[in-house]
Formats: sequence, structure tokens, C-alpha cells
Amino acid sequence: MNILGMNYELLLLPYRKMKKEGEMDYLAQTITICSDNSKSIQETSMLHEIIEAIDLMLELKLDHDKICQLEVGLYQTLSANGVDLSPLFRG
Ligand SMILES: [Zn+2]
Repeated sequence: MNILGMNYELLLLPYRKMKKEGEMDYLAQTITICSDNSKSIQETSMLHEIIEAIDLMLELKLDHDKICQLEVGLYQTLSANGVDLSPLFRG
């Protein structure tokens, strides 16, 4: 996945291996999403990790609760307006 010109490798891992919904590793350039969750939870987790990457790369220094609020607002708007987020999982 290309975020601000950087290529992040997309990984899907079961919950027993990662113990969280999603994870963004800027140094390793990876985004990992929990594969046990439903499609909609995986998509909102993906948006969350994308926002985390943008926050870090642009040095926005957003509080984590703001990142969570942006995740909810973006996911609601995109999904309620028929935007297909599944291509984000092509890596
Ligand atoms: Zn987070």
C-alpha cells in the first residue's frame, strides 16, 4: 500500500499472534490487520492504521483519541456512501 509515497507491506495475522486489531510499524513499513475480525472491523482498523501512518509521516502529533475519532468519522462517511474499501487489502 502506498501512503504518501511510501510502500507499506500489508500483513494479515490471527489475533493469537498479534493481540490487537491492527498495527502500523513505520520503521518496518508494515501494516498488520487482525484476520479474525469481520470485514467491516478489518476495514475500519485499516483506516485507523493509515491515519496513524499519516500522523507519523506528517508529524501531526495527533492524540490517539483524535486518531480514533477520525477513523470513526471517515469509516462512517465512506461506508455510508458506498465506497468500496476492499482494494485497500490488495497490499
Ligand atoms: Zn492506534
